[in-house]
This record gives sequence, structure tokens and C-alpha cells, in this order.
Amino acid sequence: MSFADLKRKSQSNFEFLQKELEKSSTSNGADDRLWKPELDASGNGYAVIRFLPAPEGESVPWAKVYNHAFKGTGGWLIENCPTTNGDKCPVCAENTKLWNSGIESDKNVARDRKRKLSYYSNIYVVNDPKNPDNNGKVFLFKYGKKIHDKILAAMQPEFQDETPVNVFDFWEGANFKIKIRTIGGYWNYDASEFSSPAALSNDDDELEAIWKQQYSLEAFTNASEFKTYEELETRLNSVLGAAPAARQAQQEEDEEPTPVANTARDVDLPSFTNTEDDDDALSYFARLAEED
Ligand SMILES: [Zn+2]
Repeated sequence: MSFADLKRKSQSNFEFLQKELEKSSTSNGADDRLWKPELDASGNGYAVIRFLPAPEGESVPWAKVYNHAFKGTGGWLIENCPTTNGDKCPVCAENTKLWNSGIESDKNVARDRKRKLSYYSNIYVVNDPKNPDNNGKVFLFKYGKKIHDKILAAMQPEFQDETPVNVFDFWEGANFKIKIRTIGGYWNYDASEFSSPAALSNDDDELEAIWKQQYSLEAFTNASEFKTYEELETRLNSVLGAAPAARQAQQEEDEEPTPVANTARDVDLPSFTNTEDDDDALSYFARLAEED
């Protein structure tokens, strides 16, 4: 960031910090900036949202973050993965070792500990039937590869008869209809789709007011959100205990599940029930092996 940018963004930076402070002072640790769809009694979910442009001073309308969330004998490890920013990660390095052992039980441990991909975007809630109070408000939305692929498909259609749509655009973009089915205990977003392109509002003052409420996305990949390699390695060793990896796998299988621990990020865990990015486990480890 240039000095001119720093000066220009001084107010928005301050407002962002104030929001962060508010967030960290909430008692239950839940992040009320985040919007989540809710299911009805039949296990389906429906809502209409609008993806919003990059916030002021930023250029990309999403943040892409990898994290690890798994339990060892020493408790839960829930940490952002440094590969998010192209840095080396001790958890991923350990996974590569396990995967390359060729032993099926080690590969299962690697699968359990693999990095998971999340995206964050600012959204405007058009219609949230389960929580109408959310309608007309700006939130952050955390989503996986499946929805990100739907965004890319709208922006870069595969066939010539389809017109590319910048779904993040206030004027030329499109609402997104989230349709969730529960399949095998997991949330499935396959039926979700974009509506025909239309302006979110014909009133630019209203759009500007929405834009000004957006949250920083670059904050998600800021260095302050990541432990150093050494810190993460220490944390990993503490979670895994002194047991070597192979024995660890046996212990994990024998153990009863324990309740989720108490950090703010842990609150998200029970809803971590999408399978969106599970398919790429093999390709991910194959690629890691190639990189070595
Ligand atoms: Zn990692």
C-alpha cells in the first residue's frame, strides 16, 4: 500500500478496526458480520442474496482462505493455513509425508487434516425467509468451492450462447438464489442459481450506502491472521502429542469424539457440513507431491 493510499484509507481502516473490536468483545465469540442460510423443517434451505463488488480500496470481491480443522490427542487444531498466502505450512508438510507413505490409514489421517478452502464475499440479503430481519442488510458470506464455481461459470460461461455476467456488479450483476438440500447429512448447494441480470437498485445513492457498509476482504489474508511456521509447528506438535503419526491414527480411531473447544473459530465447526471441496483431496496431494 502506498503512503497516499494509507492516508486515503485512514478513515475506512479505523472503521474496520472499530468493527473488529466490536466483534472481539462479543461474549460468545460468534461473528455477527457473517450471514448463514438456515434450513426449514424438511431439511431444505432457500434465500436470495446479491454478491457485492470489492469494498472501497480493494480490487477483488472475494477472499480465498485455506484452513485446517481437526482433532488430535491434545485437542483441536483450528488454524489458517499459510499456503493461503503462498507460504510453507507444517501441517501440509506433515500431510504430504503421511500421504506419500502409501499406507491407507496414514492417507485417511491426511484426508482428515487436509486444508479446507473457504471464500468470503460481501453480500446484500435480498430475501431471507427464515430470518426476515436480515433483509436489506450487508453481511459477509463464507462459501466453498461449489458456489465459487457457480460464480466463475456465470462470469466465464462455457458455451458461446451464454453471456458473461459480472455477478458482483451493482448494475449489471444478478441475484443468487441459494437452494440447499440435505443429502446424506450434508448441505448440498447444487440447485443454487443466479437470476437474470438486473440492477440491485435504480437509486445510486442507495447503492453507495450499501457499498459503504461493506467489510474488508483483504483483512482475511492479512499476515496477522496467520501463525508463523514455527508457531504453527509448535501448535501441531501440542495437538498431536508426542505420538508418531502412525500410532496417532490408531488412537484417533479408538477415541470417543469430544465436544468442540472454546475459541471463536470453533463456533463454526458444527456447520462445517459441506462436501464442496472434498473431491479435490487427491489432486491436492498429488500436486503437493509434485512440488517437492
Ligand atoms: Zn496447511
